[in-house]
Amino acid sequence: MTRNLVTEGLILKNGRIGEIHKAVTLLSPGHGILSAIAHGAYKGKSKLSGVTGVFSRSRLYLYHDPVRDSYKITDVEPISCFDNVRGELEKYYTASLWAEVVLRTYAGGGEFGEVYRLFCEALLLLDNCWPEKNDAVLALFLFRYVDSLGYLPDFNACERCGRDLEENEPWHVCDDGSIRCSGCAAGDSPRITPGARRYLSYASEKPVEEVLKVDLDGVSRVELKRAMISIVQQLIGGPLNTLRGAGGIL
Ligand SMILES: [Zn+2]
Repeated sequence: MTRNLVTEGLILKNGRIGEIHKAVTLLSPGHGILSAIAHGAYKGKSKLSGVTGVFSRSRLYLYHDPVRDSYKITDVEPISCFDNVRGELEKYYTASLWAEVVLRTYAGGGEFGEVYRLFCEALLLLDNCWPEKNDAVLALFLFRYVDSLGYLPDFNACERCGRDLEENEPWHVCDDGSIRCSGCAAGDSPRITPGARRYLSYASEKPVEEVLKVDLDGVSRVELKRAMISIVQQLIGGPLNTLRGAGGIL
C-alpha cells in the first residue's frame, strides 16, 4: 500500500480530537468512507480549518501512517463549498440527514462512485433550490440512493390485500415499511401521491438545472418526505439521529 493517497472527496462529518485537531469523515468516489485527521484544523490560523468543513467538496491529499493505520490530511484543494447548505439551517440538517443515512449504510458497500455522484448532485440541487423545495429535494436524494442500493419497496401491489396499485391513487408507506392501498393503510401513514411519483421519475432522469424548474404541491412534498424517511428508517432499522437533533426543523 502506498503511503500517499490523492482523492476527490466530500466531507460528511467533523469531530474534535483534543483541543485543536479535527477528525474528518469523508466520502471518496474510489475508496468509499474514509476517516482522516486534520492536524491543528481547529486553530484559527490553520490552512486546513475552513477547507475541511462539512459538505465541502475538494481534492484531498492524504498520508497513510502505517503504524497507526490512519490517514492524515496534508493538503486540500477546494472544488465547491455549497455556501447555502452550510449557511441555512433547514438545508444544513437536510444534508446532515443524507450524510447520516450514507454513513449508517456504509455508502452502499460497493458502488462508491455512483453514491458520490448522487450526493454531489443532490447538494448542488439543495444549494440552489428555493427553500420551499427543500422537502422534495430531501426526498429525491433518499429515493435515488435507496434505489441505487436496490432496496426500494415493491410499489406494484398492496402488501396487505394484494390488489394492484393504480397509477392515479396514492400509495401509503406504513410503519413497517410496507406499501399499501388506501383501504388497508392507517389514516395517518404518509402517502406518495401520483404527483410525487411523477416528480420522482422526472427528477431522477433530468440534469439539476431542469429539476430546479419543476415543482410539487406543498402537501405532496411533505408527505413524500415523511414516506421516504419512513422507508429509510426501515432500511437502517432505527430512528435517524439527525431528525431528533434538528428539533422539528426537518
Ligand atoms: Zn390493500
